[in-house]
Amino acid sequence: MIYLDNAATTKASQAAIDSMIKYAGEDFYNPSAGYAPALAVKKALGKATADIADLLGADPDEIVFTSCATESNNFAFECGVKNKKGNIVVSAGEHASVYECAQRLKSRGADVRFVMPDGNGVVTAEALAQVVDGSTAFVSIIHCSNETGAVSDIKALCAAVKSVSPKAVFHSDGVQAFCKIPTDVHDLGVDLYSVSAHKVGGLKGVGALYVRKGFNMQPFIVGGGQQNGRRSGTENTGGIIGFAEAAKIYKNKAAAFDAKALREAVINVFDGHDGVRINGRGTNSGYILSVSFKGLRGEIIAHMAEDEGVLVGLPSA
Ligand code: PLP
Repeated sequence: MIYLDNAATTKASQAAIDSMIKYAGEDFYNPSAGYAPALAVKKALGKATADIADLLGADPDEIVFTSCATESNNFAFECGVKNKKGNIVVSAGEHASVYECAQRLKSRGADVRFVMPDGNGVVTAEALAQVVDGSTAFVSIIHCSNETGAVSDIKALCAAVKSVSPKAVFHSDGVQAFCKIPTDVHDLGVDLYSVSAHKVGGLKGVGALYVRKGFNMQPFIVGGGQQNGRRSGTENTGGIIGFAEAAKIYKNKAAAFDAKALREAVINVFDGHDGVRINGRGTNSGYILSVSFKGLRGEIIAHMAEDEGVLVGLPSA
């Protein structure tokens, strides 16, 4: 079987599985407790937080763990938009977990504006400039598209937005970029950035949100005050520690792997065939290949591929 749907989810790395077993079993303690074994778990959690921060170019106190990137994106919207007047801008190519947040705000009467990606799936500063104005309050642009792999220049987009509306909050969904595209959130200039564990060898049910230092982030989930009150709920210790271990392994592997060359090799198989279109030939992460077949339904192609032992996403996660 050839599994070509790693953008939907990856097989968990052994390190992530081992962490889950360790912190559910022998080291099961609640990291908020005061006795020595619990403090050891808290320390391991702190190390994992520092590792994830390091992978993002952030500081540890800028990382909030969540139950998934869907929660991170909802968190960003709920708290980034709260009590702010002004319009909200998202790209038309967002993952459903961003797009539906925008649609919900729209249905509540907010001024939500959509920016169209270009023919390659990239959001350009020119296109963004057409919808952003001095009263823009919140912008969310996906870093790497989960459907086409198109990579937008988040640093340039963020700077463009802030030059027009300095107080606007800029969020980016970095799920498909994390550990694949060199990313330094401080350099990007974003306020909020979402990532997920199970796309990089971690377990499902773990995500994180980068929250820029100094950004006044009110909690989305309130309760026992864990994570400095920013996201209550007993931490998923094994999941988070395993996320950090898996992400470090993934990033090292990705650094030594030429995804773009492999993608080009696969594109060459399709090229020249009538009715076959490669979507997003320009700026691309290399990790996602989107192909359309004129006149054929995707389900048919996907089932034919499965009959040959090849599993593909349809149309994407
Ligand atoms: N954002 C993007 C770009 C994704 O590809 C995904 C996963 O499908 C998500 C968000 C949601 O991630 P999670 O499954 O952790 O909620």
